[in-house]
Amino acid sequence: MLVTVLIYNSLVFSKLKYLFSSNRENLTQKIEAVSNATRDGLLLIDKNNEITWSNENAKEWLGLNEKYASKNIRSYFPNPNFSVFLREIDSEKTLEVISPTKKENFLSLQIIPFGDEERIIIIRDISKPIKLETIRTDFAANASHELRSPLTVIAGYIDMMQHDDSIPKDWQEPIKELGKQSQRMQSVLSDLLVLFQLESESNEIDDEVIDLEAIANSSKKEAMSRKNPPQSFEVNFSEPALIKGDEFRIQSVVTNIVENALRYSDKKGAIKIYWHTDEKGGHLSIKDNGIGMEDKHLKRITERFYRIDKGRSRDMGGTGLGLAIVKYALQNHNATLEIKSIIGAGSEFICHFPKDRIKK
Ligand code: ADP
Repeated sequence: MLVTVLIYNSLVFSKLKYLFSSNRENLTQKIEAVSNATRDGLLLIDKNNEITWSNENAKEWLGLNEKYASKNIRSYFPNPNFSVFLREIDSEKTLEVISPTKKENFLSLQIIPFGDEERIIIIRDISKPIKLETIRTDFAANASHELRSPLTVIAGYIDMMQHDDSIPKDWQEPIKELGKQSQRMQSVLSDLLVLFQLESESNEIDDEVIDLEAIANSSKKEAMSRKNPPQSFEVNFSEPALIKGDEFRIQSVVTNIVENALRYSDKKGAIKIYWHTDEKGGHLSIKDNGIGMEDKHLKRITERFYRIDKGRSRDMGGTGLGLAIVKYALQNHNATLEIKSIIGAGSEFICHFPKDRIKK
C-alpha cells in the first residue's frame, strides 16, 4: 500500500514535472522504475477508458505487450459488473475479476480518480489467497460429507431407542437429550452443505422462471399448519413477481428469513411478505413484529455462526447459518439484502433484485 501511495503521489508529481524541466527525463525514469518495483499493477486510463500508461505488472497481467492488444480497458474485463464498477468510481470499493490472460488466476481492481478526467486502476494479484480459501472450503465440504453418513446411522439408532418401551426409565431422559443433539448436528451439517454448494457454484445460476408469490404462499401454508402458528401471515403482491434464477436457492432465501421471523417472534407474531417493482428492479420484503435487533448487530448477522442470543437460537433449532445462506443465494442472483430492525418492534428483510432478473 505504501508503495502504491508513493506511486500515486509520483504520478501526481509527474503532472507537475514541467515545473522541474531541468530534471525532467531523470524524474520520468525514476517514476517508471518505482512503478515497476511495486508488486501491484498500475494503469492510467483516459475519459474514453483508453489505457494511456501502465507499469510492467499491468502489462503482463493484461497481456498489453501482445501485438493486437486493445487499448480500451473494457475489452479486458467483459463482465457487466466491471462496467458498473468503472462508472461508479468509488475508490473505497474493490472488484475481484478473473485474469484476462490466465483463467485460473484472480485479480482485485481498485479505481482512483486522477486529474480532471483520468483514472488510475490499481491491480493486485489475489490468486494465492483465493486458492488457499478454495482448499479450505473443499476440505470443510469434504469433512461435512464424510460426517453425514455416520451421523445418519447414529440418529437412526437413537430414534429407535426413543421408541423402545423396554429401555429403563432412568435412560429415557438422556436418550431424549441425545436425540435433540443429534438432530442439531444434522441441521448444522445440512446447512453447511447448502452453504458450500452456494459458494462453489456462484456463477452457474440457472435461468428458471420463479414465481415468488407461489413461494411466499407455500411458506405461509407451512407456517400456519405448525403446532404454534403465528397470529397472522399476510402475503401481498400487487403485481406479478416472476424472476429469473434458481428456484432452490430463492426458496431457501424465503424459507430462512420466514423461519427467523417465526423463531424471533412470540405467540402474537405477525408476518408480512410484500413485493413491488420500480425503475431499479424488484423488491421482496419480509417483515415481522418480533424481538428486533440493535443496529450494531445488523452488519454482522449474515456472517456464519453469528448469533445475537446463542441460547435462544439453539433452543429454537437455529444453526447460525440461515442468513449466510440467504446472503450467498442472493449474491448468486446479483441481488442484495437490506435489513432494518427496531429492538422490541420487529425486523424487515428486503431482497433487492436487479432489473435484468425480472421476467417481463
Ligand atoms: P439462526 O439459525 O441462529 O437463526 P441466522 O443466520 O438465521 O441464524 O441468523 C443470525 C442471527 O440473527 C440469529 O441468531 C438472531 O440473533 C438474528 N436474527 C435473524 N433474524 C432475526 C429476526 N427476524 N429477528 C430478530 N433477530 C434475528
